[in-house]
Amino acid sequence: MGWLWREWRRRRIRGREFPAEWAHILARTFPRILRLSDADRAELESRIQVFFIEKRFEGAADFEITDEVRLSIAAQACLLLLHHDTGDYPDLLSIIVYPGEYLARQRVRDEIGLVRETDQVRLGETGARGAVVVSWDAARRGASDENDGHSVVLHEFAHLLDAEAGGFDGAPRLPRRSMYESWSRILKDEYATLQRRAASGEPVDLNPYGATSPAEFFAVATESFFQEPHALSQNHPALFEELAHFYRQDPRGFMPPSSSSAPPQYPPVS
Ligand SMILES: [Zn+2]
Repeated sequence: MGWLWREWRRRRIRGREFPAEWAHILARTFPRILRLSDADRAELESRIQVFFIEKRFEGAADFEITDEVRLSIAAQACLLLLHHDTGDYPDLLSIIVYPGEYLARQRVRDEIGLVRETDQVRLGETGARGAVVVSWDAARRGASDENDGHSVVLHEFAHLLDAEAGGFDGAPRLPRRSMYESWSRILKDEYATLQRRAASGEPVDLNPYGATSPAEFFAVATESFFQEPHALSQNHPALFEELAHFYRQDPRGFMPPSSSSAPPQYPPVS
């Protein structure tokens, strides 16, 4: 009954007109929406409306949640769901937004086995208990065109998609059973290459944070796929193809080729 009711409500919400004021905010803060096809833009707008009804936004450290904040975050989160029948992040209840980087208390074990607590600087995290935490400063940069190849929102929501298939292991639910073999082979290969390069200090064109676990590899590859699709398809064509099948879209159609010749900077993520 709960599922049927939710589907009925989603259909009603999706039929609503997207407020013109929201469209203006998105055109400014998430300009790629203007380069989507009409059908894709309409789908994204209706997913955003469902997202607003089903998820709660909470400001942390006195941060005020405005329409711009909600729209920039929801647009990036819902972009991952385009062309998928299911989704809308069923396990997610709330998005907690800090104004910028924040400190998270972490328990670490030192070299002689003692556990102590330290503060770690973070831009975002996917918690248990149905919450995603992001820094607005990083979320805003990820939504804009002049980006550095990163999006904390895409990163954390990729973790959610991964977790929906059970566990954080870089193996989300793929649309077809026949896709698992090549997904597993190609992502394993690319992960091993990034680990080797990161360990030996060789230059890398994927965030070396992805070398810490298969789950982080999937999350940083998702960021590159959407934020720097031209570079990823050129330098990692097999990985690009797997992600294009999984996400059922090709971001090269709506992202400009990167104009930056500066070496990428990799911010802290979690
Ligand atoms: Zn992560």
